[in-house]
Amino acid sequence: MNNESWIRRSLAHVWHPCTQMRDHAGAAPELPLIPVRSAEGAWLEDFEGNRYLDAVSSWWTNIFGHRHPYIVEQLKAQLDTLDHVMLAGFTHETVIELSERLVQITPPGLDRCFYADNGSSAIEVALKMSFHYWLNAGRPGKTRFVALSNSYHGETLGALAIGHTGLYRDTYAPLLLEPIHVPSPDCYERGVGQSWEDHSRQQFQWMEDTLARHADEICAVIVEPLVQCAGGMRMYHPIYLSMLREACTRHGVHLIVDEIAVGFGRTGRLFASEWAPPLSRDGGAESGITPDFMCISKGLTGGTLPLAVTLTRDEIYQAFYADYREGKAFLHSHSYTGNPLACRAALATLDLFEREKPLLSNRMLAQLMWSQTAELRSHPHVAEVRQQGMILAIEMVRNVHRKEPYPSEERRGLRAYRHALSRGVLLRPLGNVLYFMPPYVITPREVERLCQVAIEAVNEATRDA
Ligand SMILES: *Cc1c(COP(=O)(O)O)cnc(C)c1O
Repeated sequence: MNNESWIRRSLAHVWHPCTQMRDHAGAAPELPLIPVRSAEGAWLEDFEGNRYLDAVSSWWTNIFGHRHPYIVEQLKAQLDTLDHVMLAGFTHETVIELSERLVQITPPGLDRCFYADNGSSAIEVALKMSFHYWLNAGRPGKTRFVALSNSYHGETLGALAIGHTGLYRDTYAPLLLEPIHVPSPDCYERGVGQSWEDHSRQQFQWMEDTLARHADEICAVIVEPLVQCAGGMRMYHPIYLSMLREACTRHGVHLIVDEIAVGFGRTGRLFASEWAPPLSRDGGAESGITPDFMCISKGLTGGTLPLAVTLTRDEIYQAFYADYREGKAFLHSHSYTGNPLACRAALATLDLFEREKPLLSNRMLAQLMWSQTAELRSHPHVAEVRQQGMILAIEMVRNVHRKEPYPSEERRGLRAYRHALSRGVLLRPLGNVLYFMPPYVITPREVERLCQVAIEAVNEATRDA
């Protein structure tokens, strides 16, 4: 069967995510639907042999390329032993080993792992646990959460409520709990000539004021460290994380760090929280913060199976540990909690971090991404090219000097998307922001090609018809 017939069958019954389905309709659809037959490394292939370079790692999950032979081998072996068992009342080898290793590689002090099967659920777990901790600790007045403007934490009702991305949130606003949203340290908004660090420090004042005023009713602050990915790959200086950690401790509020998109090497270190510099310069202090909760998912299984973990500190775990009759237990559950196959894929992924040292090789790839997009930095419709490790984002605007965005109805990003597809590259912009988030197995030649196609796509998208 060819592409055409798969598309027809898909459109008959599959409701695709994050899509106006009508965009797929007709002979020349706004948004072409691409049936994928197979994938290998950084490449996807359709039913007619067309290949697409997966420059967004299939929604930021696929860090070691598709069907990595080692992950495939480990998964096959796991299937021969244990497919699935519920994690309540039972335990198994892969979840034990994975928990041990996650505790070793995450910031010191995160000693307890609670499992879920997608990022949004891991966020729900952190929110519920934080609230429940304060309840168990005799502080029932703590019921609110603080999040940054332009943040994204997933799309189940709790996670959606905490986030601040209008496109996803506004429709459901009547259903959602109301967090306190504080202006983001996003450095795209910095003043002319102002440094990233200076801007992020300055923006922290909003957070300090909010905590000072509302600490008694706040359970936790939640942030995406360094990069607000779904919010258009907006980036900020790590000093903000250091200041936030200090302030949360001082005000008696939890800190939840959402590493779902940026964890597992994406920003150049294994976790983005590791970039936070020491606050005082009086020697000895190492960089990196320990949050009270860290949520991870996406890259965790190398993009093969759904899995998420909320890690927390032992002190928080202890607040739930009591005689059954005290009713303090955390009773949250998902059917597939700690699925052995997904845990095996995660273990294989951690092995690959040790064996292939991607954090080292990514430095060269990241530099190449930067140098190969040089001409976009003086493009008349590019306000900013920004990068953090293996994320590079290109902000397309109508007017560079005023940073005047293109109206979203013009769907400039969609033009870039279609152009890139016609050249065999999968680039799926977020509004007017074109970005790369390639798998770490991408080759230098593929990076060159990706950048070339991205430049063409920007020209195509910003050309006035
Ligand atoms: C993707 C994402 C989520 C949600 O994860 P899902 O698995 O899609 O539910 C939450 N937070 C961030 C930062 C994300 O990028």
